[in-house]
Amino acid sequence: MVKMNRLKQTFDHVNQFGKTDKGMTRLAYSKEEKRVTDYFIACCRESGLTVTFDPAGNVIARRPGEEPDLPAVGLGSHLDTVYEGGKYDGVVGTLAALEIVRDLNDRKIRTKRPIDIFSFACEESARFGFSQIGSKLMTGLIKKEDIAKLTDKHGETIQTIFARRGLDFDRAEEAKRSPHSLAVFMEMHIEQGPILEAQNKEIGVVTGIAAPTRFSVCVKGHAAHSGSTPMNQRHDALIGAAEIALELERAARQEMAYGTVATVGDIEIEPGAMNVVPGETNLKVDIRSISRSSKNRVVQHLRETIDRLEQARHLKIECTMLSDEEPVRMHAQVIDSFEKACGEQNASYIKMPSGAGHDTMNMASLCPAGMIFVPSIGGISHHPDEHTDLSQIVKGIEILEETVLHWAEFPSDSDDRERKRYEKSSF
Ligand SMILES: [Zn+2]
Repeated sequence: MVKMNRLKQTFDHVNQFGKTDKGMTRLAYSKEEKRVTDYFIACCRESGLTVTFDPAGNVIARRPGEEPDLPAVGLGSHLDTVYEGGKYDGVVGTLAALEIVRDLNDRKIRTKRPIDIFSFACEESARFGFSQIGSKLMTGLIKKEDIAKLTDKHGETIQTIFARRGLDFDRAEEAKRSPHSLAVFMEMHIEQGPILEAQNKEIGVVTGIAAPTRFSVCVKGHAAHSGSTPMNQRHDALIGAAEIALELERAARQEMAYGTVATVGDIEIEPGAMNVVPGETNLKVDIRSISRSSKNRVVQHLRETIDRLEQARHLKIECTMLSDEEPVRMHAQVIDSFEKACGEQNASYIKMPSGAGHDTMNMASLCPAGMIFVPSIGGISHHPDEHTDLSQIVKGIEILEETVLHWAEFPSDSDDRERKRYEKSSF
């Protein structure tokens, strides 16, 4: 039985790290994130796991299997947060994995496969404007040079930040894992949206993960006196930026059938004074969809809008793509095994796409992968009010544990090859 008190105690302990007046701030590779990671490592060791820390800063904690050379069952999530975030995003999945191991220990269950728990580094884009650095390095989806120029908002380079955390940036690519090392990867996460609560379901079995395409858009006009510059002689950078935001909204609303969304969530105005016509604005654009072509249509509309505004408003607009990721489907066998576990445990569930990105989308390039969601009350996330009832988390853990046992005991077809290799090598 999953122990609710033990889970709550660990959960509360984890959320003492980075606690502020306005929610949780445990930025990637920060002091607070190091402290929570150290605590998590201590918990893993206490439960008999062997812990390694890879050159990207990912934690990998292994529970040995009866057949130690078989590809492992991978579980996990992340412990970093956005600025002033909630207590549940990432923490729920990381602690679910730990609780499953604790429960298997209590029940004296030894699995055939090893179980690997991952706490991924830098899942959130809050620090560098670049998400999932740990799992992207682990899966070889990015190279060092793709992130070598990143800085945080204080201008500190990723190299300096890595070094302070005891990591050598030059060795970051050594985090790459062999695709044969995992039989499956599964992550439990809060939904971060309103659907499960609205439909009164306990579990969301994720079918696919929408991928973001992100841009930094710099709109340059002319700063001028707000009193003495007539309306028809202005090159107002903010008005251009506002039109871009409105056009993005319009384009994404036409693509709602594909779950497509577009957001301008960050804008800076130069010089930023009440009596000056804005001379420059910098905005960050985030477009997501589980359909590549739908997302492309919104991107195309963004580019056309920029061309039109440059002419119509005499602005100079630079549009830099920050990232462009492919939507990822979850593995059919993993979806099946989650549905079966929901049936066996009498859990109500729906199949649904994920609008938010997760480490699982990268892990899917390595092995069969899947996710389940537990409800987010009010759909609130990345905010101090983020909440999921403990009983809902426990339900999710029970489903995940059942699925872990399935994968840990019954080798999939692809493993037969691995098994033969293993049997051969032991003769
Ligand atoms: Zn998360």
